[in-house]
Amino acid sequence: MDKKVIGMTFPRQDLNLGLEPSLLTVLPSGDNVMYSMENKDYNDDEVEYYACSVYITGMHEFQRWAKKHDKNKIITGGYEPTINPEEFLPYSKKVIVGPCDSFYETIEQEGDIVKGITKNERIPRYDLYDIRNNQQIIPDKIKDDICTSINTSQGCPFNCDFCCSPLMCDKLLSKPIDLIRKEIEYLKKYNPKFVFIRDENFPLQKDWKERLLEIEKLGAKIYLFSSANLLTKENVEFMSKHGVYMICLGLEDVTEEYFKNKKLDEACKLLHDNGIMVYLSFIVNPLKVKTQEESDKYYNKLLNRFYELKPEMVCGNFLMPFRGTKIWDDYKDLVNEEDYDFYNSKSAFLEKDPDNRKRMEYEMFYYQLLYYTSDFYKNNVRKFNVNDTLNLRFKELQEEFSDYEEKTSRESTKKLLLKK
Ligand code: SF4
Repeated sequence: MDKKVIGMTFPRQDLNLGLEPSLLTVLPSGDNVMYSMENKDYNDDEVEYYACSVYITGMHEFQRWAKKHDKNKIITGGYEPTINPEEFLPYSKKVIVGPCDSFYETIEQEGDIVKGITKNERIPRYDLYDIRNNQQIIPDKIKDDICTSINTSQGCPFNCDFCCSPLMCDKLLSKPIDLIRKEIEYLKKYNPKFVFIRDENFPLQKDWKERLLEIEKLGAKIYLFSSANLLTKENVEFMSKHGVYMICLGLEDVTEEYFKNKKLDEACKLLHDNGIMVYLSFIVNPLKVKTQEESDKYYNKLLNRFYELKPEMVCGNFLMPFRGTKIWDDYKDLVNEEDYDFYNSKSAFLEKDPDNRKRMEYEMFYYQLLYYTSDFYKNNVRKFNVNDTLNLRFKELQEEFSDYEEKTSRESTKKLLLKK
């Protein structure tokens, strides 16, 4: 019997929030290949290779697992090995740096650290994965609605000082359109209700319209990332006509000015005028909300921006300084190895006082809920209490923070959630 190639992601997939892992693009053809969701221990004698994708929050889980397996069978890749390849040498036969879709060709290269080879000859191994595990949080998506995703390009040529995406790939690399066609044809069998275009900035590609026309054939509601400066009237009208349902824009830190966001207000208005939802992600730097007073001021400013831009969905992330980014030097003294487990954007790990950290995490949740349950949102944006995945996620978070509310005698958010 052929020895197996086993794909694994560290940390293991979050079944509440996840999407198909990017590792499916790396795994080679063949019946001996599998994707394992459990990251359990296998018998090395039955395995040809372990293909391990590691993100910083999975670093410790990976190290524990790798110590129990034959190093000569472990191939590592993904964000963390790309940014810090040397740290993976004690655990790997080869470390793959950057994007890769040709597994054997890549690892046949000489050296311990090898550059990923991308040939764009085949579609990701969706057959190794149960698409029903995808549980994205999207307004009006109900729990069992099928959601899938597609990458039509990789990389980002911009160099925002906090972002780790260009470290993985700092050029825009487009997949051939024929491959997109093939992938869409394959994905049709799932009859998805939603499709997420995972490109860092979809309309940055010269032929994005042609690509969108292909993806539209899936008949699913499309959502994608874009920078505000690319959302011209003509582009937004085209998107609206061809299945785009929601656009994700980065508001980032509301106290900073970003060149890419000079046209954010116009872009949000254009999207709404054309029936496209706005998903606004924002960044909170824990060092800027250290005191209650600073926090009140920060969130007041943020809420005012929400009222101006009327996003249907908002998503807060704490600042996470990555090694290799421009901001790293400013924060490196505040990051130690124990913090790796908290690089999930929902932990304010730059704050070292545990009580203050918890307050910050609570407030990020609280102000988003306050916006969703405001009369403003109800009267000007949409209804929140509709049991879609967005609404359910906030009910889960409310549950997670209920002990904190009790302990600190904070006003209970239950009241907000019950609001019709
Ligand atoms: S934030 Fe977006 S535009 Fe900026 S570097 Fe990252 S992916 Fe590129």
